[in-house]
Amino acid sequence: MLQLNKVDVCYGSFKALSAVDMRVDEGELVVLLGANGAGKTTLFNAISGLLKPTAGEIRFRDKVMNGLKPSAVVGGGIVHCPEGRKLFPQMSVMKNLVMGAYVHRRDKEGIRRTLKDVLALFPILEEKKNEPAGSLSGGQQQMVAIGRALMSRPKLLMLDEPSLGLAPLVVKQMFETIQKINSLGTGVLLAEQNAFAALKIAHRAYVIENGKLVMEGDREAMMGNEAVRKAYIGA
Ligand code: ATP
Repeated sequence: MLQLNKVDVCYGSFKALSAVDMRVDEGELVVLLGANGAGKTTLFNAISGLLKPTAGEIRFRDKVMNGLKPSAVVGGGIVHCPEGRKLFPQMSVMKNLVMGAYVHRRDKEGIRRTLKDVLALFPILEEKKNEPAGSLSGGQQQMVAIGRALMSRPKLLMLDEPSLGLAPLVVKQMFETIQKINSLGTGVLLAEQNAFAALKIAHRAYVIENGKLVMEGDREAMMGNEAVRKAYIGA
């Protein structure tokens, strides 16, 4: 579904991504592991059209995506749920959710149905729908951010550090929800520091170090890999 071929991204003279080859197949849940500054956010920004690759090609469902505007990437079926959630804190939960459909959907009835599905996935948001998003707990705000992303009915959902700053119990529920979203048919690309929890729900994973993908494997291979365990799982 998503295919990156030898993608480079530079900030001025600094090469933040170097010859990145990766793929996410239809319906897959793929995890991207890497330390702070390894290049995860840069990679997501390149896929979502916020940064232009300086070399290489990004394809999605056989269409070349390089150079498309972020709104066209969303329209094409890829949505990026950024680190730090980026909600509109004064606006109600409901308005934040509906914003996710604005970029490319005009079908009111369809939007209403998707909203119903999102609220079924996150029942607490139904209760809080008229409250300002900024008044919610961190975990609930993350639900709004994911719910907003789902409002555009993506084929691929990219989640950048969704567990950041959340309490352990909330993190557990968050990963269960991500797995559920994937099992309902949405491909997921998940960047996480919380490697163990992320690998538990992954089909495959990549490791990125200093802007280069240095390892790839399925869940079992990654979980069993000594270097991965040492660097990212700590056991
Ligand atoms: P984190 O989890 O801390 O966000 P990351 O893996 O997402 O880390 P990136 O934010 O993609 O990493 O950063 C990759 C590299 O690019 C780092 O060395 C970072 O300092 C550098 N970098 C990121 N954004 C810029 C920018 N706007 N200008 C210059 N360098 C940048």
